[in-house]
Amino acid sequence: MATINIRRDVADPFYRYKMEKLQSKIEGKGNGIKSVIVNLPSIATSLARPPIYVVKYFGFELGAQTNTGDNDRWIINGAHEASKLQDLLDGFITRFVLCKECHNPETDLTISKDQNIIRNCKACGQRTMVDARLKLSSYILKNPPKKEGKEKRDKKEKKKSRAAGNGEEGKEASNSEEEGNKNGNGGLVTGSNNLDQYKAEAGSDDEFSRHIREAAKDITADGTADGGFTIDTSEKAMKERQRNELTSAVEKLTMGDDEDDEEGAGSSSFDTFATWFEAQGDKPSDVDDIEIWKKLSELGLDQKHKTLQVLPQCMFDENIVKQIAPRAGLLKKLINKTDRHEKAFLGGIERLVGKSFPALIPSMPTILHQIYENEIVSEEAILKWGEKPSKRYVDTATSKKVKGASASFLTWLKEADDEEDSEEEEEDDE
Ligand SMILES: [Zn+2]
Repeated sequence: MATINIRRDVADPFYRYKMEKLQSKIEGKGNGIKSVIVNLPSIATSLARPPIYVVKYFGFELGAQTNTGDNDRWIINGAHEASKLQDLLDGFITRFVLCKECHNPETDLTISKDQNIIRNCKACGQRTMVDARLKLSSYILKNPPKKEGKEKRDKKEKKKSRAAGNGEEGKEASNSEEEGNKNGNGGLVTGSNNLDQYKAEAGSDDEFSRHIREAAKDITADGTADGGFTIDTSEKAMKERQRNELTSAVEKLTMGDDEDDEEGAGSSSFDTFATWFEAQGDKPSDVDDIEIWKKLSELGLDQKHKTLQVLPQCMFDENIVKQIAPRAGLLKKLINKTDRHEKAFLGGIERLVGKSFPALIPSMPTILHQIYENEIVSEEAILKWGEKPSKRYVDTATSKKVKGASASFLTWLKEADDEEDSEEEEEDDE
């Protein structure tokens, strides 16, 4: 049977990733007319996705009923030409198969704790998010990929990629045009529609980046560290102090004095991250959220709560008040609303303000307000943090100062919380 490149925008006949050309048969007539995708199982296997995902995708795109593949007969109601379905398949591949980073099709899907669908790339190691707004995304969340199959495939893929000397089309970040050139993408096999779609997908932002930009748009902070006090040290001195704090924060993690130790988050990874971050530019804002996210994923730190303890030291400085909102998207992503992550983040803030920028202690209410307004940390977590001084992240005296300075905000929050209890929010369901 004729095979084609999984990425039809790659014309290279030696492209490693092939699949069968889609074949369909139109059966029946009138209201009962339907299209059978004869070789869907084979295509789905090549894409390492369950056939049901593919057929559901077609159904959503065409607004047509699909069956569930009894006896491996995959049917869409209505008459749909193979070429049309092949074009739609490109969209499925771009959205649910190709690594967003390197556009390699060797990925598998997992569901993250916060219900994002993640493509894990075997070639470049990136974990990229599937657009949650797509109808098939909701379907996948309700019908997640099976674990056993994934593990088996992992092993197989590992073997395969070792044998092949590992994903040469993958390594570095690039936009789709560069990618095309690199792959010697002379002529596009299919209509330009598909290329446009590829470009749109590759160039457009996923949910995550969209959030980040939205968050950046509505910065409400007045930008000043309020209270009218002056910062009494030179910028250089502050930088120095922050750097020392970062080092000791990392060292603290190294000593493993944390009762909730995490596997695989060795101090060296945090070290590497901190060093990398510093090398990116003079100002913390020089470092892009996406780059941070990529780096953390690469180092296996994107799920670790300790990461949230270290991050404030990296991404905030004396301008923290206006730096919080632009980072909200990334922070929310990393915090995932688990207690530990929230606690670690507030601890990191406590340390940054208490130790690196004590002149900012009076601004704690504003800082916490920013954290709260941007929904980075829940009110429960903030209130819990504020309950009493702790020597977990700083010495008790410093903790007392920082939390004492936060009192007005904590009181406000508590009152707001009590008020909200009476007005229940509706959950929308499907
Ligand atoms: Zn990749």
